Amino acid sequence: MKRAIILLLAVAIVAAVAGVRLRETAETEPVYASRILMGTVIEITAFGPDRRATARAIDAAFAEMARIEALMGPGEQSDAVRISSADGPVEVSPETAKVLALGLEVAERSGGAFDMTLGRLKALWGIETEAPRVPSPEEIAGALEGSGAQALRLEGATAAKRNPRTEVDLGGIAKGYAVDRAAEVLAAAGIASAAVNAGGDMRLVGARPDRLWRIGIQDPRRSGAVLGTVELRDAAVVTSGDYERFFEHDGVRYHHIFDPRTGYPARTAQSVTVTAPSALLADALATALFVLGPEEGLALLEHYPGAEALIVGADAELHLSEGFEANATWR
Ligand code: ADP
Ligand code: MG
Repeated sequence: MKRAIILLLAVAIVAAVAGVRLRETAETEPVYASRILMGTVIEITAFGPDRRATARAIDAAFAEMARIEALMGPGEQSDAVRISSADGPVEVSPETAKVLALGLEVAERSGGAFDMTLGRLKALWGIETEAPRVPSPEEIAGALEGSGAQALRLEGATAAKRNPRTEVDLGGIAKGYAVDRAAEVLAAAGIASAAVNAGGDMRLVGARPDRLWRIGIQDPRRSGAVLGTVELRDAAVVTSGDYERFFEHDGVRYHHIFDPRTGYPARTAQSVTVTAPSALLADALATALFVLGPEEGLALLEHYPGAEALIVGADAELHLSEGFEANATWR
């Protein structure tokens, strides 16, 4: 009898310890999943007390990103395509209106460097297609017709283009919003610690359980090498670079971020990393700063107190805002 009780007690103790162990692993080992959406690999890492519930929250976050892609991407039913193919004003979703409003603000403050009306120029170059090519100056001039900071108007949730030829492209900003939404879905599901990475557009929920998130900044000219790291919590960190989507012709690199003034890929930077409270803002700013280059780019940041940046110039020199330096460690 005594023995049986001791045995039972021992079993109970082992079970209790095992229970504690299980819970510990669940919290210290993240759940990781990846999926292809918005033309890139999306990776989500999340820590939660219950692995199955955490995996479900990650699935919901992916579903949310797919919803944003359908709303703002190149698909036929998207708000962007509806604006482009309409003759008159178009009622868009409140979310698209929010993205357009911020995009138009960055467009104005950047003197048109950020431009959501480059749809025809993007199609002309075909940089993200199987058959990219360098167009003629005449073709470029033609594709720029109907683009520019004044080409798109927004009143409330009603968007209208001024020129029948304008084509809206939210490729420089929508991914940021989708990443924000994924992070919000994770947080709403009770996840206190997570990272969403959409090919260099990141949003961090909280910190890791043991330390801050440590984000490596890709060296734009050495694949797989990092320039340094930033340590952050509850923030977005977004990189725009000339090294991810590009082709080479006669020794010249042609990439996917265009200078709206010339219609050619922007030439003053190799990469730009922006940290900000939201990925929506960080995404728009990274593209804008890439076009503006180090000097004008850092000047634009003065309008956005919560945003910081690292600009790798065309000559590979590093240009940093003060607040960026504070969180960074260099190699
Ligand atoms: P990534 O897509 O690599 O994260 P960006 O956020 O810089 O990089 O977005 C680049 C995309 O933005 C291009 O593929 C194109 O759709 C669009 N784009 C290109 N040039 C501009 C520009 N000057 N302003 C706004 N959007 C742009
Ligand atoms: Mg961008």
